[in-house]
Amino acid sequence: MVFSLSNGFSDVYSMFRRNPAMNDVVKVIHKLSRKIVGKKGESTVKIMGFCGTHEWTITSYGLRYLMPSNVELIAGPGCPVCITPAYYVDVVIKLAMSNIRIFTYGDAYKLPGLARVGIRTLAEARARGADIEVVYSMMDAVHIAKKDRKESVFLAVGFETTAPSVVAPVVQGKIPRNLTIINVHRLTPPIAKYVFENVPEIPLNGVIAPGHVSTITGANAWKFIPEEFGIPTVIAGFEPLDVLLAILEIIRQIVEGKPKLVNEYSRAVSWSGNVKAQKLLNECCEEVDAAWRGIGFIPKSGLMFKDKYSEVDALKQYGIPELTPDEWKYDLPSGCRCADVTIGRSKPTDCRMFMKKCTLANPYGPCMVSMEGACTIWAKFGGSSLAAEVTREVGLNI
Ligand code: SF4
Repeated sequence: MVFSLSNGFSDVYSMFRRNPAMNDVVKVIHKLSRKIVGKKGESTVKIMGFCGTHEWTITSYGLRYLMPSNVELIAGPGCPVCITPAYYVDVVIKLAMSNIRIFTYGDAYKLPGLARVGIRTLAEARARGADIEVVYSMMDAVHIAKKDRKESVFLAVGFETTAPSVVAPVVQGKIPRNLTIINVHRLTPPIAKYVFENVPEIPLNGVIAPGHVSTITGANAWKFIPEEFGIPTVIAGFEPLDVLLAILEIIRQIVEGKPKLVNEYSRAVSWSGNVKAQKLLNECCEEVDAAWRGIGFIPKSGLMFKDKYSEVDALKQYGIPELTPDEWKYDLPSGCRCADVTIGRSKPTDCRMFMKKCTLANPYGPCMVSMEGACTIWAKFGGSSLAAEVTREVGLNI
């Protein structure tokens, strides 16, 4: 991808990854951080990156190791696969073993359920003869289902970013009769609120708000964080320079004592967002209280098809009950700390199974499956030995 930018940078690589300004940004972060003194003499600043891709950038580029000692970067709940309740995984496995084809994204293919039918993942179901198709999009599933007319179900997981691409063909009447959908989409502002209200042991001082999600919701969706919780918030892009600038802005606001919302990712995110996508979601779905894996039900955090679209709702079509708060049970495999990792209470390395019983090749818990899962990312890139190498690689000299 080549950009023509008037500032002389010829491509995205030099603009965001080898920009000499990164060195200066890190230096200013260090300088400003010396002015931070928290309550009761504490000086540790905790900044949560809500998006899994931000955690990817932070970890893969070693940004955590470029931070001053009093600035801690915490991974947040930005992995939709990690928080998909085990109930729905078990449901699709059961359907798959009943000779119904299952479409889903690659990330969900290895996602473990609770083996209610003796099979943990769709990958295992496929090994036993089930028809599982990994697709890139809802429209891929639509094209395949239209062609061969086989009875099929699409397991649709994701946040606001992917939901519009699933509901668009529903609203447009493009779903063939042999295809239905299990709608497990979740909304991100409610989980942010949940973290601020329910995880008092991490008093957050700053939030890097999700860039992808904000392209749909608009920046305005995050105004409540500084306004209701007094936490500096910056919507950031996903290049190292984006994240460093977001951290710098958050620390600047902390020092000045003036929390507000800043949109660093204005090249992709507008304040009102993608209004067309928002209309599609409102037309097709209603916001409902919904389960998050290992966490429980969070008010108005999920999307459910409205009654007028019940013909595409796989749960309704197959008479499968929706998961309710009364029936929800803690749904992580024994010993897995994925929920704590998801809400920032624990680091992946706090889990005694990290890289022992739970590995990239054999994930035991859901946070070790998706490219956006914190355990996956730490397993791929973690380790302090990376720091010097990364610092040298990105050309920083602090
Ligand atoms: Fe769960 Fe594995 Fe992460 Fe531990 S390392 S929290 S078992 S996903």
